[in-house]
Amino acid sequence: MFVVLLGPPGAGKGTQARRLTGATGLLHLSTGDMFRENVRDGTELGVLAKGYMDRGELVPDEVTIAMLLERIARPDAADGAMFDGFPRNVAQAQALDEALAGRGAAIDRALLIAVSDGELEGRLGGRWLCRACGAVYHERNDPPKEAGRCDQCAGEIYQRDDDRPEVVRTRIERQKPPAALIGHYRDAGALREVDGERDLDAVTDGLLEALD
Ligand code: ADP
Ligand code: ADP
Ligand code: ZN
Repeated sequence: MFVVLLGPPGAGKGTQARRLTGATGLLHLSTGDMFRENVRDGTELGVLAKGYMDRGELVPDEVTIAMLLERIARPDAADGAMFDGFPRNVAQAQALDEALAGRGAAIDRALLIAVSDGELEGRLGGRWLCRACGAVYHERNDPPKEAGRCDQCAGEIYQRDDDRPEVVRTRIERQKPPAALIGHYRDAGALREVDGERDLDAVTDGLLEALD
C-alpha cells in the first residue's frame, strides 16, 4: 500500500506518520527528514537544500524528485510506503505516479490532515525534534518525559532553524497543499480528509479509519 499524507506545515504529518507506520508496518519516507539528514552530514545536496529551507521555500522539484525516486527504488520500499511532505505540488505527484505505475502500483490513499491557520503558528513555534531519530515533540502539547531528551532514543532535542517566527509565517503562506494537488488525488478517488484539530490520539484514529 502506498499512502500520501497531505496538510499544511504543522498539521501533524510527521507526528502521525510515526504513529501510523508503527501501527501499519509501512515504511515512513519524509523528504524533510531526508533533507535534514543531508544538511547534518554536510553533503552537496544538504548544502543546496539548506538555503531554501532556511528561507521557508521549497527545494526545486528537479532535486527533490530525484532524491525521492532514488529512495523508493530501494528494496525496502518495494511493497509500500507512507510519504510525508511529498508531494508538495502536482509536478511532484505526477513524477511519483509515473514511478509507481512503472512497477504496477499507485497511490492508494491521500490523507489530508486539515488544520486551520490559527492553530499552525503555535504548533510550529513550539515544535522540538530529536537530533538522532527525528521524533517530533511539542513544548506544551506533547513534551518528552525528560526535558531535552528523546523518549525513543535518549537523543538530544533541538528546535529547527526554520521554526523561527518569521520563517514559520512564510511557510504557512507558501507551503499549504495547493488546490490542484488536492484535486489530483480527489480525481484519482484516493483523497480522504481528516480533522487534524483534535488531540493526537483522535487524529490517529481518524487516519486509521480513513486507511481502511
Ligand atoms: P508537520 O509534519 O505536518 O509539519 P508535525 O508532526 O511536525 O507537523 O507537528 C507540528 C507540531 O505540532 C509538533 O510540535 C507536534 O508535536 C504538534 N502536534 C501535532 N499534532 C498535534 C495535535 N493533534 N495537537 C496538538 N499538537 C500537535
Ligand atoms: P514541515 O513539516 O514543517 O512541513 P518539512 O520537514 O516537510 O516541513 O520540510 C522542511 C523543508 O524541507 C521545507 O520547508 C522545504 O524547504 C523542504 N522540503 C521538504 N519536502 C519538500 C518537497 N516535497 N519539495 C520541496 N521542498 C521540500
Ligand atoms: Zn530520538
